Amino acid sequence: MEETKKGPLGNPQNTIDIIKKHQFAFQKKFGQNFLIDTHVLDKIINAAQVTDEDCVLEIGPGIGTMTQRLAEAARHVVAVEIDKNLIPILEETLAGYDNITVINQDILKMDIPKLVDDYNGGRPVKVVANLPYYITTPIIMGLFESQVPIDNLTVMVQKEVACRMQVGPGSKDYGALSLAVQYYAQPYLVANVPSNCFIPRPNVGSAVIRLTRHQNPPVRTADPGLMFRLIRASFNQRRKTLQNGLNNSPELDYPKETIAEAIESLGMGSSVRGEALTLEQFARLADWFSAHDAKQ
Ligand code: SAM
Repeated sequence: MEETKKGPLGNPQNTIDIIKKHQFAFQKKFGQNFLIDTHVLDKIINAAQVTDEDCVLEIGPGIGTMTQRLAEAARHVVAVEIDKNLIPILEETLAGYDNITVINQDILKMDIPKLVDDYNGGRPVKVVANLPYYITTPIIMGLFESQVPIDNLTVMVQKEVACRMQVGPGSKDYGALSLAVQYYAQPYLVANVPSNCFIPRPNVGSAVIRLTRHQNPPVRTADPGLMFRLIRASFNQRRKTLQNGLNNSPELDYPKETIAEAIESLGMGSSVRGEALTLEQFARLADWFSAHDAKQ
């Protein structure tokens, strides 16, 4: 508790002190860049809209900088950290709190719906994380696709990834991630974060983005799984036409003529590229193929 009495961990000197005291060695393979800016922490906590009724899932607490702040705002915090060398540090930095559970696990291998059941009776949780950048997409998509009950996710990601999550057709950053995120959630850019807000400094820019889960998806489609196969096929080969993308996909098995007919049903020509289609148009395309399959 010595360190926490000196002030918040987000203060750079306190972070350096605790790292030195425990002779902690940063592991690049775990994407370890610890936040050392209290203003950025404030922005994350405010954007996440955590109240004293909330259960928060924090992914990758590091030395517990954000965990302390979350515990002050929430009813309970469950923090999942992969690096066993951080566990003794967390035991020290979080010793004064009785509403935090630290779990030493790989978040990608956890049964998160069960975790939410155990700690919040299956009610929606808030997810807050300064994510390890090497697994941003699998973490976010895993949370959405496994139907974990979530109110919102407020996450630090690479700046380019935050950009991809928000854009629509016409932008070079538009892709499968934009469509997937926007199908499940409403993105809101909270802040851009320069690399001097972390130790060690990452060699990319960062941004905090909040993804508020839609109650109902913004488009309806009979088979969302098929829609996502079509989306992946369209963006796998970016410079190819939609026709060729769908034709070459290992996940789809439609004859050329059927694909041409489907694209025509959208009122589009054979030279159209997948990146020109909106989420709504992908939903219509999926429904056309579903109706076609039902007739076979
Ligand atoms: N939250 C801390 C902060 O803001 O200072 C640390 C953020 S650091 C970018 C990412 C954290 O995620 C590290 O503590 C790292 O060890 C942890 N981590 C990396 N991969 C993980 C995984 N698969 N499951 C759980 N934690 C992971």
